[in-house]
Amino acid sequence: MKNMDRRKFVKDSLKITAVAAVGSSILMNSEDASAAAVGLQFAQVTLPYAFNALEPNIDALTMEIHYTKHHTAYVKNVNEAIAAEKISFATEKEFFANASKLSMKARNNGGGSWNHNFFWQVMKPGAGTPSGKVTDAINGAFSSFDKFKDQFSQAAIGRFGSGWAWLVNDGGKLKIGSTPNQDNPMMDVSELKGTPLLCLDVWEHAYYLKYQNKRADYVAAWWNVVNWDEVAKRMI
Ligand code: MN
Repeated sequence: MKNMDRRKFVKDSLKITAVAAVGSSILMNSEDASAAAVGLQFAQVTLPYAFNALEPNIDALTMEIHYTKHHTAYVKNVNEAIAAEKISFATEKEFFANASKLSMKARNNGGGSWNHNFFWQVMKPGAGTPSGKVTDAINGAFSSFDKFKDQFSQAAIGRFGSGWAWLVNDGGKLKIGSTPNQDNPMMDVSELKGTPLLCLDVWEHAYYLKYQNKRADYVAAWWNVVNWDEVAKRMI
């Protein structure tokens, strides 16, 4: 076999192997993935800044462990659950809308994957300020930015145990609330419903190295790194 032919043979053989191994969720390039018609898979977004970019509000070590250990594990585990349980929803939206039918492994890790992808994006280095559109919507719903901030902070501080605080758009109405564990407001099991506009992770893994038991201090510092441009993009 000539060199070129051998290379083509090897390439084609690998493709066949990839298609046959879909059930075990191996890594494939996009050409092979589409040929095999793989269903929904979760992916981890690239962190839009360096681990130390949110210092001193969020320390570099916390960011590194949070992103490379906790978040990576959620993504790996949800994709394992999708493969093992043959979950075949086409979109993340559909996946969450059917959360009540999912195993706890799929629900918790699917939520963990999505929530963290969103969380990284709604933060950025440097203190930002809300834009006109966001300010108007917040003032309309909560009467002032300070009242909004208080209510959101209370949702974050008051969530017992692990969970998330959220600002959501529920049918054109802005609402603040929290969810336990890795649930989110797109899940049918969630009491708080709506499209997420902003979120804050209040699991101890998000702040314990720097803030220990002082969750309120972490929440207060977090306002310095909110990416209001991302909130504005999601606000209708
Ligand atoms: Mn987290």
